[in-house]
Amino acid sequence: MIKKPFKDIELSMLGLGNMRFHTSDPKGEKIKDDEAFAVIDYAHEHGINYFDTAHVYNNGDSERCVGDCLEKYDRNSFYVATKFNINACKDYRKMFDDQLKRLKTGCIDFYLVHCVLDGNVDEYLNSGLVDFLEEKRAEGKIKYLGFSSHASTATLERFADSHDFDFCQIQLNYYDWVYGNSKSEYEALVKRNIPIIVMEPVRGGRLSVLTPDSEAILKKAHPEWSISSWALRFVKSLPGIQVVLSGMNNLDQIKDNIATFSDDYIFTKEDNDVLMEALDLFKKQLTIPCTSCRYCTKTCPMQINIPEYLKVLNDVKANGNFNLWKADKVESDGKPADCIGCRACTAQCPQSLNIPYYLEELADKMANR
Ligand code: SF4
Ligand code: SF4
Repeated sequence: MIKKPFKDIELSMLGLGNMRFHTSDPKGEKIKDDEAFAVIDYAHEHGINYFDTAHVYNNGDSERCVGDCLEKYDRNSFYVATKFNINACKDYRKMFDDQLKRLKTGCIDFYLVHCVLDGNVDEYLNSGLVDFLEEKRAEGKIKYLGFSSHASTATLERFADSHDFDFCQIQLNYYDWVYGNSKSEYEALVKRNIPIIVMEPVRGGRLSVLTPDSEAILKKAHPEWSISSWALRFVKSLPGIQVVLSGMNNLDQIKDNIATFSDDYIFTKEDNDVLMEALDLFKKQLTIPCTSCRYCTKTCPMQINIPEYLKVLNDVKANGNFNLWKADKVESDGKPADCIGCRACTAQCPQSLNIPYYLEELADKMANR
């Protein structure tokens, strides 16, 4: 396992995100300890020493699970990161005491202000939370203080400059590097010399399965690499990256990821070019190239707002099914499921799009969410 120095300690470059364990209840608040412990124990035994959790994961049960499992190990052999989320709870003093108890420790190694957003940054800054956490750091109850951000780069910079933070956690992967704001966030943190903890390196698993054509490009270059390992290798190659978190919940996944972070292969410019070629094709095949010209809508007997629904489908394909709620907000007399397949629309479409096929795909996703 690759280890990198951080202040006066060393951290494994791969960290275990403890938010995706299987649970035994419908609310997802009772983690199956036998499965989770097997993953945590395997991680610890194979050199991972950074364990990330939060009170919002499984409504506190993730913290409880991590505390219960790691309790048997030498306290100097691992570091625990947890967070406070103001959207879920306002009483940070009580929460901090509860977290110490759940994690069975007198000191939280890495403590993060959780999920800074453009919409909550003022509340965070005015709440007194960071001053309280700085006091805890001075008392030795927090070793290192940081924050995680899903905000715009400008907000991230504002928050980073507001206090003396030891590290920052951002979403960073090759897709968001090109199409999102990973690159500008990364550059803002590197400029400030703030070590970076990476979350979503495989974009919630979205980059572990590409289209067959783009996967073929990657497989040709390195047949022995898994598709998700390309995403991890991209992140691993960037200077300034301290820890890459992966929410592993089974042993096959953790073994593959540990192998990726145990070799000293240097990701080359050629590898990067191959990855960008695969990404370009993935994006093209993923995206329905509707130009919103609306020629199709004039002929649709079911009055379906076709371009708006295709926009939603693009969003769902790129960013996940949780975006399906946007389909409910489309102003349209006809819904995707109302399409009768008459193909009056396709005859009008300058992009030759198979519109009924896409509407059926969206209707299926909406019906099965
Ligand atoms: S195929 Fe569907 S979307 Fe296209 S015109 Fe007919 S009903 Fe409308
Ligand atoms: S005609 Fe084709 S490109 Fe134009 S809005 Fe309809 S689907 Fe999109």
